[in-house]
Amino acid sequence: MVYCSACGAQISPQAVACPQCGHPNAVNSAARGATGEIKSRVVAALLAIFLGHFGAHKFYLGQSGTGILYACFFWSGIPGIFGLIEGLIYLSQTDAVFSAKQRVRTF
Ligand SMILES: [Zn+2]
Repeated sequence: MVYCSACGAQISPQAVACPQCGHPNAVNSAARGATGEIKSRVVAALLAIFLGHFGAHKFYLGQSGTGILYACFFWSGIPGIFGLIEGLIYLSQTDAVFSAKQRVRTF
C-alpha cells in the first residue's frame, strides 16, 4: 500500500487516483509516460547504454527534446558517455525511484 500525497489516505499502488480526495496517485501515474504506457526501466537502461549516442533512451522515455539534443551531438561522443552513466543509474534504481524521476524530468 502507498499513501496519498494530498490527504495521506492509504491507497493501492495500482489505483489511478486517491478514492478519498481524488488526487492522482503519484506512484501509479509516475510509471506512465505521455502515451499512458508503462516504461520499462531495463529497456531504458539498455537503450541508454547501447544507443545512448543517439538519445534512444530519451525518445523511449518520451523526452524527445533531450533525445534530439543527444542525436545532434552524437559525433562528440559526450551523449554516449551520458547515456552509459544514465543506463547504469537506471539499473541501480528501483522501479519506483526510476518512475518518479522520469516523471519529474520529462520535458
Ligand atoms: Zn487523497
